[in-house]
Amino acid sequence: MVPTPQRLAHWMAILVFATSLATWQSALGQWAENRKIGPFQLRSEFALSDEQGQELLREMSRLQDDVEQMLGLKTGLDPIEVNLFRTKSSYQNYLKVRVPEGVSRPALFVRGTDMGRVYVYRHWGFEQDLRHECTHAVLHNTMPYVPLWLDEGLAEYFEVPASHRPSGNDHLNSMKKKILFGWKPDLRRLEQLGSLREMDGDDYRESWAWVHFMMHGPPEVRQVLADYLYDIQHGNLAGKLSDRLFAKHPDAPRRLVSHIRQWR
Ligand SMILES: [Zn+2]
Repeated sequence: MVPTPQRLAHWMAILVFATSLATWQSALGQWAENRKIGPFQLRSEFALSDEQGQELLREMSRLQDDVEQMLGLKTGLDPIEVNLFRTKSSYQNYLKVRVPEGVSRPALFVRGTDMGRVYVYRHWGFEQDLRHECTHAVLHNTMPYVPLWLDEGLAEYFEVPASHRPSGNDHLNSMKKKILFGWKPDLRRLEQLGSLREMDGDDYRESWAWVHFMMHGPPEVRQVLADYLYDIQHGNLAGKLSDRLFAKHPDAPRRLVSHIRQWR
């Protein structure tokens, strides 16, 4: 049978429909959202159409600029796939065939050979997880490696809404209380932590405190962080940040304590 132009158009339509269906159903669940925001290719099993969702999308579009501006880094341009799941079980079902070792984690960033991928499921406060994991993704898109403590300290810093970063992070009050009870910072100890399993809540908070000190503290301390990140990004021998910081500012731990104590 000779195909008529009408039949050809009909088959083409079916083919296009089938192809788009395959893309649409590439996850266990249906993607209700599929959009590009800055470097992020966002796929979500639930709609982000309410005010809260829109604000989250605005924040995501700013995250790359914020990291670039605040850390003085030229961020990478590779795409980052962000997968948002409607429920924890949907998240776990998706991960168990793709990243089985990550199933028990509450949220996940995976640096792939082709692109970075973020996995987060909806629960109360999931926006924080999303900002946290997306920060890891932007950092790893930008630098060949990031020391673990610094990676987590920066992700903790950027995980709150932008307006809360200087003074609205819960870690600030926690650290003030710890200082009252005689807490002593120890950056060299943090630098020795080799895996997330070795890090507890106190380590995350201390990493955040060092980052906050270097972002909002004296300009000369901020410069040490900027130079360190620059060297990592450009493949220069970076060494340990503590060596650089303590060589220039041997009293940095004491200054960190007084920075946190006085910060409002
Ligand atoms: Zn993290």
